[in-house]
Amino acid sequence: MLLENVPAHIFRIKPYQPGKPVAEVKRELGLETVVKMASNENPLGPSPLAVQAIGRKITDLNYYPEDSSYYLRQKLSEKLSIDPAMICLGNGSSEIIVNVGRAFLKPGDEILSSEKSFVMYYLCGAYMDNKVVQVPLKDYRFDLEALAEQITPATRIIFIANPNNPTGTYVAQPAWERFISRVPPGTLVVLDEAYSEYVPAPDYPDGIRYLPDHPNLLVLRTFSKIYGLAGIRVGYGIGAPGLIDILNRVKLPFNNNALGQEAAVAALDDTEFVTRSREVNREGLEFMHDFFSRHEIPFIPSVANFVAVLLSGPGEDVFNRMQRLGIIVRPLRSFGIPDAVRVTVGQAEENRLFAETFLRVWREAGGGSR
Ligand SMILES: *Cc1c(COP(=O)(O)O)cnc(C)c1O
Repeated sequence: MLLENVPAHIFRIKPYQPGKPVAEVKRELGLETVVKMASNENPLGPSPLAVQAIGRKITDLNYYPEDSSYYLRQKLSEKLSIDPAMICLGNGSSEIIVNVGRAFLKPGDEILSSEKSFVMYYLCGAYMDNKVVQVPLKDYRFDLEALAEQITPATRIIFIANPNNPTGTYVAQPAWERFISRVPPGTLVVLDEAYSEYVPAPDYPDGIRYLPDHPNLLVLRTFSKIYGLAGIRVGYGIGAPGLIDILNRVKLPFNNNALGQEAAVAALDDTEFVTRSREVNREGLEFMHDFFSRHEIPFIPSVANFVAVLLSGPGEDVFNRMQRLGIIVRPLRSFGIPDAVRVTVGQAEENRLFAETFLRVWREAGGGSR
């Protein structure tokens, strides 16, 4: 009776499927060491300055946090040389993605994005039954030309991941500039830069630079990746003050918890940690690319902290075999690439262990005999 009253589209939502926690895998498979290389987390742990800040704040937890994340917005404002009124905070950038949908979508409005991208863009449409038009990737990267051609009067929000998850590719400045100049002012462009701090490419466009000319642009960043704070849920959006005001109207009160705010403020000062994270990732990515190339294993060259590996059979097969050997990767069926897995770059020793295990599994699974 009760559930009959639930709108039909709610039953069509495929809930986000996270990877299993390490402890659960250890318990179920009776393994002593398990290395998780599945969710693009920072292998160096959290920023040490953030950990200290959390320790200092912990006795204040009886108090509600700052609702507007005041100090964190101030800190971001200084760091990015941006007016604090242009910054909103979220319980991870995932919350901001959902809030964008809540604030902007009416029945019949459409979202435009690419296929084989971040699941939150599709969920954003699914929550209120708005169509998500998905343009194919081109050479595994967002095809902004094709995206621009798909814009209609119904297109309310465009989501672009740069770099894209799970392919690790990026769109370069010229393609980005051609695209943003073609978007009508009544359509919101959400440029998701969750991995921007890792990208070494000189032609990678910094979304923030385009804000003065494009009040319909929202740039998303996160503390979940290079700052090592995925577990405490802090992300931020940068856009015109009017847009930020709208997003703040639909956020939950106290959406950023007290520890997360303190941790993020401290992490922004931890330049040593960020530099080391970038360095470890650069070396690890080089190792991964080199390993796949050397063994002629098809992969998508990446600029982020993960690599997608293209297999000749279901990704779940390699995922299961590797998990039994203590290494967790991510099968990419839910991302729309069923014959692939994604591996997050780890520390040197983890990467070596991954390579050794992957090679064994890949040969067992007949990976080389395509
Ligand atoms: C990891 C990731 C995020 C970050 O999500 P949070 O909610 O901030 O943890 C955002 N976008 C993409 C494409 C990601 O891969």
